[in-house]
Amino acid sequence: MKQRLYSGLLISGIALGQGALAQNSGNEAPRLVQISDSVFRTVHRPGAANSNVIVTDEGLIVVDGTCRGDGDPTWLKQELDRLYDVPVKYVILSHDHEDHICGLQVFDDTAVTVSHALTREHIVREGRNTSIPDIVFEEEMEIHLGGKKLILYYFGPTHSNNLIQIHFPEEGVLIAPDIARAEKSLALPDFRDANIDNLIDTLGVLSKLDDVELVVPGHWGPTNQQSLLEYRDYVVALRDRVLDEMMAGASIEQILERVTMDDFSDYGNIDIWLRANIVSMWDNMYRYREPNLDDAGDYQTAYPIGASVGVTGMGSNE
Ligand SMILES: [Zn+2]
Repeated sequence: MKQRLYSGLLISGIALGQGALAQNSGNEAPRLVQISDSVFRTVHRPGAANSNVIVTDEGLIVVDGTCRGDGDPTWLKQELDRLYDVPVKYVILSHDHEDHICGLQVFDDTAVTVSHALTREHIVREGRNTSIPDIVFEEEMEIHLGGKKLILYYFGPTHSNNLIQIHFPEEGVLIAPDIARAEKSLALPDFRDANIDNLIDTLGVLSKLDDVELVVPGHWGPTNQQSLLEYRDYVVALRDRVLDEMMAGASIEQILERVTMDDFSDYGNIDIWLRANIVSMWDNMYRYREPNLDDAGDYQTAYPIGASVGVTGMGSNE
C-alpha cells in the first residue's frame, strides 16, 4: 500500500495551535492534511466545505465534498488514486445541502453512498449535483471497514432536517459539519432550514459525547467540544432575547436595533452574520408561538395573517 503520511501535520492530543489549524489563509494548492492516524481533511479554497477521508487497509471512506474551486471531488479522486492502492468504498453525505456534497458522484464506480433517509429525499427532489444515496438510515448506523468503525448519528432536525454526525471513536474524531466552527464562532449565516430547539439540544449532546478529542466542522479547521458549547450559549441567548422582544410586542425593526449581542462580540462571524441570524431567528419564533389576544380580544388584529414582516398592528404608527 503506497500510503504516505504528511509529516509534521499530525495533531497530537487536543492542543490546537492558534490559527494554524483553524484555516487555510490563502488560495494554496489543494492538499490533504492529516488530523489523526487515519483521518485526513482537504485544505483548498478558504471557507469551502471540508471533505474528509478515513484511510483503512481495505478501502477509503470519503465524508462530504465541495465543488467550490480546486480541491473538488474530481481532484480528490485523482489524489486518492495517486496516494493509495485501495479504492473509495464508502461516500458519506452529512446532509443534503449542495455545498457539502457537490460532485461526489465521481466515486460511484467503487463506492456505495450513505446518508440519512431524509437526505436522499431532498437530493432527489432538488436534483442535487451529487451521488444519490444507495444506503440510508434513520437514527444510527455503523460502518466497519478494515478493522475500523465509524458511527453515524442522527439526533433529529437541527441544521436541516437531515444533518448527521460521523464519529470515529478509536481516534477521537467527530465530523460535525455546519453545527460548529473552530474557536468561538457563529456556525451558521442564518437559521434557514433549521430547528432551533433541537439544534440547541443536539449541541449539548455532542458536547458531552465520549471519545471525542477533535471536532471537524463543515468549514475551516478542526476544533474541540468547547466550540459546541460556546455556540450553544450563543443560540440560546439569541433565541431567548428575540423571543422576549416579540412577547413585548417589538417589531423586527425594533428587535434588530435592540438585540445587539454585545456580550458575544468576540465570536467569529458575528459582524457579518448577526443581522441574518436575528431575522431568521425572528422568523422561526414567529412560527413557533401564538401571541395572546389583544385588548379587543382578537389577536388577528394585532398580528394579521399575511402582514408584512414586522407589522405589529393594522394602521399602527409603530
Ligand atoms: Zn448546510
